[in-house]
Amino acid sequence: MVTTRVTLGGGDGRDPIDDRPNEECGVLGISTPHGDGVAQMAFFGLFALQHRGQEAAGIAVSDGRRARVHKDEGLVANVFTGDTLAPLTGYHAIGHTRYSTTGSNAVRNIQPFLVETMHGPLAVAHNGNLVNASTLRDELLARGFGLTATSDTEVFTLMLAASGGRTWEERLERTAPAWKGAFSLVLLTADQVIAVRDPWGFRPLSVGRLPQGGHAIASETCALVTLGCTEISEVAPGEIVSLRGAEIERHQALAPARPARCTFEFVYFSRPDSVWDGHNVHHVRQRLGEELATESGVDADVVVPVPDSSIPAAVGFSRASGIPFNDGLIKNRYIGRTFIEPTQDMRERGVALKFNALAENLQGRRVVMIDDSLVRGTTAGPLVRLLREAGATEVHLRITCPPITHACHFGVDMGHDGDLMASRKTIEEMREFIGADSLAFLSLDGMMRAVGSADGAGYCNACFTGEYPIPVGDAQAKLSFEGVLA
Ligand code: SF4
Repeated sequence: MVTTRVTLGGGDGRDPIDDRPNEECGVLGISTPHGDGVAQMAFFGLFALQHRGQEAAGIAVSDGRRARVHKDEGLVANVFTGDTLAPLTGYHAIGHTRYSTTGSNAVRNIQPFLVETMHGPLAVAHNGNLVNASTLRDELLARGFGLTATSDTEVFTLMLAASGGRTWEERLERTAPAWKGAFSLVLLTADQVIAVRDPWGFRPLSVGRLPQGGHAIASETCALVTLGCTEISEVAPGEIVSLRGAEIERHQALAPARPARCTFEFVYFSRPDSVWDGHNVHHVRQRLGEELATESGVDADVVVPVPDSSIPAAVGFSRASGIPFNDGLIKNRYIGRTFIEPTQDMRERGVALKFNALAENLQGRRVVMIDDSLVRGTTAGPLVRLLREAGATEVHLRITCPPITHACHFGVDMGHDGDLMASRKTIEEMREFIGADSLAFLSLDGMMRAVGSADGAGYCNACFTGEYPIPVGDAQAKLSFEGVLA
């Protein structure tokens, strides 16, 4: 099955009416002692991680001897049917939802990667981005390996397959110190699932006990809750977790580094019902709104969120400012996934394809519009115009994070530094470009107070500050490996 996702204009292939950093990927691992419906469980776990990647999905299953994989482009519900799940029988499974952070969205880059090694089958699924993938690829090529894909996940797979060591855990411990960057990784071998999180802890990863026995690992706790897991805990940065039927083994395998959790998981990426670093994402977003109201209050009649991710922050802003909350924009959640080309006339209407304004809630009102981020600035202007056309007399834009001035090299696609509006314009220039009556961003201090880390310790804020937790000189642009395999 090959499907095409329509982007509504934009020569760079990005959707100009969705000015968000693009989600990274979601990973999942399951090991059970009984093997009942392990692929179905992986399917529903991936379903809960759909927000982390909508370009492709895959599940690999092992029955203790042989591993099989099914993967394809599209949403989880499109890729898997009863017929495609039926052959995926076994005791252990890993799964992946993909947004292409390194390598294009070509079919060859869809995960899990499955290879046969001298130690048996090995499948790998990965969330994050290595900043030294280019160097590691060159080393593999110099050692005589052929590369078939352009994503850095193949680098993990081949390095592990070629590594010495008695067990997969030993091979992982020997190999992982060479990996610089973000990796929340799940491996499937013949008889177990192994997970490892990079020593900086950029991307989330949690583990829980399944109600019917065995364990599951997932990028976000929301997927574990969907599977009915209890005893949910975070996989620590640098920790290796091995699941084999009912057994679980955990050990701190990689030398600890200065922790650098991605703050953007709280601002935008993670599902609001997930818990990370001990904080419920929804509550953090409400606090982001409260901090924003305290820092940048404004005289207005109604607080309106840009749905959906800004709703909790708008509630927080309303609570702290005393300005009533109301819906002003209704989002069509499915338009970005349409497979039908819009007409030119519809393309030109751009944002109206995705949002409708609720005129009854806006007419004659001074509006505070809450949004979670401003990346290229392509959506904010049309949304402000939409509110004005619906009768708003003033539109004040408030953003629940600081200006994004630097590209992410750890698994989030924001484009290059030059694509970012805040790297080229002052706040007043941005306000003028967007056409808002006022524009304010949450400060770094305010954001970190909302996250619960007063001094920012333990978090990566590089896209706001340019202070990368690890050197990124070797980091490659998303498509830099494409040339030779185009
Ligand atoms: S640079 Fe920004 S998006 Fe990337 S890991 Fe750091 S905080 Fe997250």
